[in-house]
Amino acid sequence: MPTLDSNIEYLKGVGPQRAEVLKKELGIFICRDLLFHFPFRYIDRTKFHKIRDVHNEGEQVQFRGILRRLEMVGEGRGRRLVGSLRDETGMMELVWFQAIHWLEKSLTVGKEYIVFGRINEFNGRFNITHPEMEEVPPPSDGESASNTGNGVSRTFDPVYPSTDKLTQKGLDARGLRKLIRTLLDGISAAELPETLPDYLREQFKLASRWEALNSIHFPANQQELDAATRRLKFEELFFLQLRLLQIRTRRKDTVRGFVFPNIGDYFNTFYTEKLPFELTGAQKRVLKEIRADLAKGSQMNRLVQGDVGSGKTAVALMTMLMALDNGFQATLMAPTEILAQQHFSNITELVGDLGVNVGFLSGAVKGKKRQAILDLLAAGEIHIVIGTHALIEDWVQFKNLGISIIDEQHRFGVEQRAALWKKNPAGAPHVLVMTATPIPRTLAMTLYGDLDVSVIDEMPPGRKPITTTHRNEHHRLRVQGFMREEIAKGRQVYVVYPMIEETETMDLQNLMSGFEALSRDFPPPQYQISIVHGKMKPADKDFEMQRFVKGETQIMVATTVIEVGVNVPNASVMVIENAERFGLSQLHQLRGRVGRGAEQSFCILMTGFKLSAEGRERIQTMVRTNDGFEIAETDLRLRGPGNIEGTQQSGMLRFLLADLARDGQILTAAREVATHILENDPSLAAPEHARLRRHLASEGKEARVWSRIS
Ligand code: ADP
Ligand code: MG
Repeated sequence: MPTLDSNIEYLKGVGPQRAEVLKKELGIFICRDLLFHFPFRYIDRTKFHKIRDVHNEGEQVQFRGILRRLEMVGEGRGRRLVGSLRDETGMMELVWFQAIHWLEKSLTVGKEYIVFGRINEFNGRFNITHPEMEEVPPPSDGESASNTGNGVSRTFDPVYPSTDKLTQKGLDARGLRKLIRTLLDGISAAELPETLPDYLREQFKLASRWEALNSIHFPANQQELDAATRRLKFEELFFLQLRLLQIRTRRKDTVRGFVFPNIGDYFNTFYTEKLPFELTGAQKRVLKEIRADLAKGSQMNRLVQGDVGSGKTAVALMTMLMALDNGFQATLMAPTEILAQQHFSNITELVGDLGVNVGFLSGAVKGKKRQAILDLLAAGEIHIVIGTHALIEDWVQFKNLGISIIDEQHRFGVEQRAALWKKNPAGAPHVLVMTATPIPRTLAMTLYGDLDVSVIDEMPPGRKPITTTHRNEHHRLRVQGFMREEIAKGRQVYVVYPMIEETETMDLQNLMSGFEALSRDFPPPQYQISIVHGKMKPADKDFEMQRFVKGETQIMVATTVIEVGVNVPNASVMVIENAERFGLSQLHQLRGRVGRGAEQSFCILMTGFKLSAEGRERIQTMVRTNDGFEIAETDLRLRGPGNIEGTQQSGMLRFLLADLARDGQILTAAREVATHILENDPSLAAPEHARLRRHLASEGKEARVWSRIS
């Protein structure tokens, strides 16, 4: 009998050919991989629908019946495979458009099938398109999957993700089910030792690991399945948090950070003489948290979350001044040229005659100018350098870089964060990451689980909440009239169009015809219009952007290139065309471009007449609330974690079972426990933590991935 670590080939019923496909199609190399190939749904043998009882389109159904007919119909692109399923109450049509020749061969008229799918209505009749089909074995077959092995008859059968190639090798859902049954029958509980301390299992009433791994594949009932799922989700989230928090603890213990004991002239003079406003309570609190980090002697790795307009720039600048007061240099890095320049001019103006040398470096700074900056940086004569990711190139060297601030983190990868650390041979500079994309708490705990988090949860006073309305083509004239009124008051207006790669050509056309229509309705010389989109040369983009920033143009027609960070306080109206095509977080970011001054600001969401249910919910959410965190939570619920802005490339959000949109409670509990454990037993040396230590060590493969992100 093979063990869990044996090559999958040696499991009874596999062999070299199937092993090959399992590896290629599902990444299953050893028996353990197969054990962790979890079902994506279960056939509840107690719950079959009767064909006669189906009345609604969209309903998910499971029938059991005989396949009565199977034939190819239609020609060319309309060619399809049509079948009829009969149960004792009626007949249901089944339709396939893809892989039809293969399906025609593998399905047999006259056999009994379990059919799962969603009801469609077509020409007044119901059918199911691309149903999942599973043959019901004749009773004599004695397939062990219909038994738990101890004679109890089963009501739940697992259905596994499979592919055409696997199906062709006999590894459809049923084939996989058989293999996993064989595997589970052949191993003992000792091969799947418990990973959690008993006290944790008791505290959270968790099933044992052995029980859970058996039940996740072959649950006796819903209750058992729920218990197994909860146990395995907890394990998944708990060990992830334990790893992240260990990284954090170790870093604090081993990476020495520069100590900034002094608050000196730069900071104090700036605070008392230059800062043009009183800091909000939240800004003060976050600055205190940063200050505490900087005095500790370990490297700071902190994330500052703050909605657009919450005043992160002032926090960044004052943090940099703390470094300067202790004789160190500081950087502020932004994701785009425009943003970097905006920071540069803001900060240059804010520091005034404080005696701070502020430099600028981006890909656009070339030749002698660049060399001059590089020399000054190396000599320590530039105190603060602001720029783009050009700052992390190898050839940029500092005299003594003490802190790096990264604005709008979601555009920077983890590697880039790490690259900054190498900039000072004397030690790792402190790192402060700032993001204006409010991230749901569960995501933050995972994506930034190794960072300390501060939240600026208060807006500067005197801001009026932005008024958001939903409009369609019928209101076009009124919307234009409103734009005219606002412009007459001296304000400026953004008009934003969607632009995505897949429909780029059409999107660009839309944008251009929108621009032309606006140029007719808002003619020169009274009105001037800027246009910015991704297909323009950077220099042209900048030029147009600057015209708007300086107030030479009243309307800015643009794509989402203006999404992040651009600050034109005089702009009071944001019109978003085809708003239904934007994600919630993106809409929120765009809306954040207005409402930056003292004036009442407006966001107008233009959509078509017909909206999908989800599109409608997004628009309604925007109209209802200005709270970025609430919006982010809704976005997470509607679109799932993989689609949240800036997380797409993150492998960290790939879970076997856990779902950050739904399992917030389990995650919070797991993180709390993990924090508590590491506080009391940082090296997990206590006897009751031996299981944790062993499990962390055995998951070496994953551990390597984890060390890469730190
Ligand atoms: P963000 O967090 O989006 O980067 P900014 O730092 O650009 O926000 O700040 C937005 C605007 O609010 C700026 O014009 C800034 O001068 C102003 N501001 C920041 N903090 C305060 C404050 N405490 N009181 C009044 N205005 C503030
Ligand atoms: Mg900002």
